[in-house]
Amino acid sequence: MARYIFVTGGVVSSLGKGLSSASLAYLLQSRGYKVRLRKLDPYLNVDPGTMSPFQHGEVFVTDDGAETDLDLGHYERFSGVTAKKTDNITTGKIYSDVLRKERKGQYLGKTVQVIPHITDRIKEFIKHDTSKEDFVICEIGGIVGDIESLPFVEAIRQFSNDIGKKNALFIHLTLVPYLKASDEIKTKPTQHSVKELRSIGIQPDIIICRSERPIPLEHRKKISLFCNVDIKNVIETVDVKTIYEAPISFAKEKLDVQVLNYFKIKSKKSNNLTPWKRITKITLNTKRHVNIAIIGKYVELKDAYKSLDEALTHGGISNNLKVNLIRIDSEKLKVSEIKNKLKNVSGILIPGGFGKRGTEGKIEAIRYARVNKIPFLGICYGMQMAIIEFARNQLKIKKATSSEFDKVGVHIIGLMHEWEKSGRKVKGTDKDLGGTMRLGSYNAILKDKSKIRDIYKSRLIKERHRHRYEVDISYKEKFEKKGLIFSGLSPDHKLPEIIELKNHPWFIGVQFHPEFKSRPLNPHPLFSSFIKAAKNHR
Ligand code: GLN
Repeated sequence: MARYIFVTGGVVSSLGKGLSSASLAYLLQSRGYKVRLRKLDPYLNVDPGTMSPFQHGEVFVTDDGAETDLDLGHYERFSGVTAKKTDNITTGKIYSDVLRKERKGQYLGKTVQVIPHITDRIKEFIKHDTSKEDFVICEIGGIVGDIESLPFVEAIRQFSNDIGKKNALFIHLTLVPYLKASDEIKTKPTQHSVKELRSIGIQPDIIICRSERPIPLEHRKKISLFCNVDIKNVIETVDVKTIYEAPISFAKEKLDVQVLNYFKIKSKKSNNLTPWKRITKITLNTKRHVNIAIIGKYVELKDAYKSLDEALTHGGISNNLKVNLIRIDSEKLKVSEIKNKLKNVSGILIPGGFGKRGTEGKIEAIRYARVNKIPFLGICYGMQMAIIEFARNQLKIKKATSSEFDKVGVHIIGLMHEWEKSGRKVKGTDKDLGGTMRLGSYNAILKDKSKIRDIYKSRLIKERHRHRYEVDISYKEKFEKKGLIFSGLSPDHKLPEIIELKNHPWFIGVQFHPEFKSRPLNPHPLFSSFIKAAKNHR
């Protein structure tokens, strides 16, 4: 049976529980163990799919088509383990499962309660779909003391009793603030947070203290004493300059060693930090850089394009370059300003998006990239906009548009008719927007002698999708005659997956989201190639 590591947070949110869990996963893997990562989210949405990126950051999509919390992206990027549907659950999903069961009368007349019915469902999730893992790391979203997270904390308390304390480890991540005015490091918030955790029955085994500066021994001793945790298990995590340093910094603090000690198991091999040291060095030391413009709706919130930002950085790593992201709000981008705003960029990227707002600015920016031969990457919505731009300006279909946002016009982008014909439910209605998209990993076949084939070095690729609309394949010939090639198609040749321009140094649009599969230790070829083209641009 797997051993379970539960990660809770205290004092404030955004301390980096996801990154800490992901780094620990890497370290345990490099010690020779098989690890799985899971996230339990306390909010009431059934999944984050319908939440605005402004609210919750990016929605991370898994191979098997789940719309999940962005922390699962951290997990994949650091551990390399492909996340599954069964690795993320929310309060909303738990309640809807329990209530469905109740409506079916499956509780046999019992009063349905938070304890035991909700907690049992949470415990089921924690255990479900695991078999050969040595460790399952479960992160609990939010912080201890939140009303919403109470059932989760109660469930993990029960779970550790069920499987035996020696098989379950509690890690609590807290803030140890530094007060500038008095030049002091304060341990009291941590003490209070642990007190809160203990009041609901959990004694942490390891405390990870997030701090701006190193925590002196005497403060660690204090935390150890007041929180009843062995001094060796009071681990500090001082702000790192790049997230790639996190596994190195946790290894220095012996987090993995302490976890193995707790479970009384030996390390199978010494941990390998070389790859992280290598990319940290590149990220911090490289002097050369390229400017890449990201033109999107959610640029103000950094986490809204988390995987994309990461993937571009990875592309930089493989080219020994720093990538400067110039974020441009598409809603504020006036057509008259485009030239000025884009004059110093070496690459233009239009990310995924929904709805009409900001489309005209995006389309104009794409025209600018096409005409001025600036490397361009359009992702999902970005590819759809590139199709509209080309149709309007090169095919002279002035009213070319998408049925997503224009009722009238020539719908070169529309809903998935093929799918509807085959009887599968794909179309979202106003009442039911959740779970109505083409989601998850699908195959695409790449055209011989195309740029994309050269980049992927493979005929068949698998990439993750998250969209409702598709480019109408019946326009293929018209586009290709004018030099815009449909260089990737679904295996049944009905859905355009990739477009590229013939007479352009690097102009590619993809209907999928390659950013979800890029990893710092294994950058995605499309991003490496895009950044390389940007490097060659000037
Ligand atoms: N809104 C578009 C669609 O649903 C694109 C979605 C996206 O970019 N992820 O097809």
